[in-house]
Amino acid sequence: MTSSNTDTGSAQDVREVIVVGSGPAGYTAALYLARADLHPLVFEGISFGGALMTTTEVENYPGFPEGIMGPDLMARMREQAERFGAELRPEDVEHMELDGPIKKVTVDGKVYAARAIVLATGSAARYLNLPDEQRLIGKGVSACATCDGFFFKNQHIAVVGGGDSAMEEATFLTRFADKVTLVHRRDNFRASPIMLDRAKADPKISWATNAQVTGVDGEGKVESLELTDTVTGERRKLDATGLFLAIGHDPRSELFRNQVATDAEGYVLTGKNIPGAPADIAGTATSSPGVFACGDLVDHTYRQAITAAGSGCAAALDSQHYLASHG
Ligand code: FAD
Repeated sequence: MTSSNTDTGSAQDVREVIVVGSGPAGYTAALYLARADLHPLVFEGISFGGALMTTTEVENYPGFPEGIMGPDLMARMREQAERFGAELRPEDVEHMELDGPIKKVTVDGKVYAARAIVLATGSAARYLNLPDEQRLIGKGVSACATCDGFFFKNQHIAVVGGGDSAMEEATFLTRFADKVTLVHRRDNFRASPIMLDRAKADPKISWATNAQVTGVDGEGKVESLELTDTVTGERRKLDATGLFLAIGHDPRSELFRNQVATDAEGYVLTGKNIPGAPADIAGTATSSPGVFACGDLVDHTYRQAITAAGSGCAAALDSQHYLASHG
């Protein structure tokens, strides 16, 4: 049974499907579910629209040859999902019960029930928590070389991190930048020897080891950075106009980490990645039947808007099949 009376949030009104999250994954899932006449209820989160709300120009989302501002792209996705009947609520889910045939989701103290759930809560890039860092995201500060490297042609970029991602991002960024300085707080690296050697062989990469970025300066965009030596405490200015963080991401899975299988970092495991999964498991199915997951919440490799949207589509189709076969 599907009820339209969700205003009361009564657990007796069982929806077909609830989507949690409102980035490219959540809105794409909502669009497909709405067009399949499943009237999805979407909890978008208070900061709805997802990671692209914090960026400026997006140049690699197909269909926008001139590029599109991140918030405009998300407003369009939102509008498209709503046009087909997705019910959108800019509220945070506080609690979930994902086992059994009827799942429950608590929002602002009210309980909502559904036969299927799509989890699309994304992941958060780790930043340094410096005073002006958040203000300058999209204006020189970035956590995604694939997304933003192109905007730094002939500039000096600092990359922070000591693992494989930092080496990969630094090496990738040399395609655009005149100079890349890799800043790492120690003088030994977690990165695999092959990645480290490749970066070390690159003449465009300089090394600032035993160093931390302790300040980001600039009004409208990044103009320079402050580096502090972790051994001597000495401070110096780095004339970089880009700051790329490659210090990891945290999947937003705290609410349901003990209810669906995750990897050690908290990314939700789906499909054949779940240990002991049946051979015919759907690609976006989690370890809890009727619960599907998509986007950056499950993906520590690609982390792009288009891949998140693609997996949101897959999660919607998988939920549709689940609902049809568990009618
Ligand atoms: P997100 O976009 O992270 O959305 C998750 C949503 O879930 C959020 O709206 C959040 O509020 C909501 N949520 C979380 N918890 C709850 C809860 N408890 N209840 C309700 N809702 C909740 N990719 C590109 O392809 N091109 C680019 O140019 C590009 N630029 C980027 C620039 C920046 C600064 C950043 C940070 C990322 C960029 N990316 C880019 C990456 C891209 O934004 C992500 O890969 C994509 O947004 C992931 O989509 P998602 O739907 O999985 O998650």
